[in-house]
Amino acid sequence: MATKFAEPMTIGGQAVRRGESRDIALEVSQTSLGVPINLLVRVVRARKVGPVLFVCGAVHGDELNGTAVIRDLMLRDLRLARGTLILVPVLNVFGFDRHTRYLPDRRDLNRCFPGHPGGNMAFRLAHAFYEQVIKRSDYGIDLHTATQGRINFPHVRGDLADSGVGKLARCFGCQLLLDRKGHQMSVRQVATESGCSAINFEAGEALRISRPDVELGVRGVLNALSGLRMIESKPILALPTIVVRESVWARAHAGGLLRFSVRPGDIVEQGAHLASCDSFFRSAGPPVRAPVGGIVLGMGTLPVVRPGAPVCHIGIPDVPVGELVARLRKDRVVRRASGPRPRVRSGPPPPMRESLRPSPTVERPNPLRTTAKGSKKG
Ligand SMILES: [Zn+2]
Repeated sequence: MATKFAEPMTIGGQAVRRGESRDIALEVSQTSLGVPINLLVRVVRARKVGPVLFVCGAVHGDELNGTAVIRDLMLRDLRLARGTLILVPVLNVFGFDRHTRYLPDRRDLNRCFPGHPGGNMAFRLAHAFYEQVIKRSDYGIDLHTATQGRINFPHVRGDLADSGVGKLARCFGCQLLLDRKGHQMSVRQVATESGCSAINFEAGEALRISRPDVELGVRGVLNALSGLRMIESKPILALPTIVVRESVWARAHAGGLLRFSVRPGDIVEQGAHLASCDSFFRSAGPPVRAPVGGIVLGMGTLPVVRPGAPVCHIGIPDVPVGELVARLRKDRVVRRASGPRPRVRSGPPPPMRESLRPSPTVERPNPLRTTAKGSKKG
């Protein structure tokens, strides 16, 4: 397979030959004192030519699960059978340092790609990553969580019209797949349009590291490496994929205190009770109901809302909800064995909870031990 770069691969002026691994400090900016600010980049290369895959985290500086996924991968001392893996644990180094999504000038780095060498801070950082990493890669995985005040059920986002994205998304092995283009100046969209097929993995919430979500992310990246034949271990396959192409937010109708009756990953019929907005004078305020049937992709975590506040993000599956539920029930044994899964919510609403549990996905078994063993062989 032809590579997109001349041998040896050079990042930040440092050459990495086939069969070598190297940790690189890629200078992307400076502090106001003129001290260099670097991206940490690990490049792992097999002797055999093969695909180049980048994996990056914290393009939004407060989204930490992806950084933890990449750190886990770094600690595994991966040996590749083919190709090159480029790991960038923290892309927005400014936001990461300040516990915020944005850069110091309030710009969202994931709206600034492919960047510009003469632009503002965000454009320069985006340009460095685009030139040094994205342009050398065939595939990319950009790891995210929900923004602050929200939580996401684990899912992959990608534009399945791109065959490379479809392949990567299915290799990753997440049960929920949101088939959608990214923002036109995001890492994912710009990479895909420039010939590097890229997906997002979304799981959990900002400013938290959730082990179940991290383990799913690690498993997904190892699955992708396996599917691209870059490592020799077998992938841990997820269940038949549920594809979601459209989604809507259910919103609060009144100000007050929210009590949820669903969790991320629940499957709800149209009109299902999602939450109540309780006022200080009534114990049960006006309900928030599902505007459509679908899967709770994500939801708010702040218990205090104003009218119009987003409460539940409902993904509309590509098959009718009744059919989906029947399919999931039929696959019950398989679902138990393979970990994360949407849960079927039927019958009367369950007792209300006062707030979300910190991690709604802790019920999953941990399938990673098998993967970790396999990957060391690869
Ligand atoms: Zn994000």
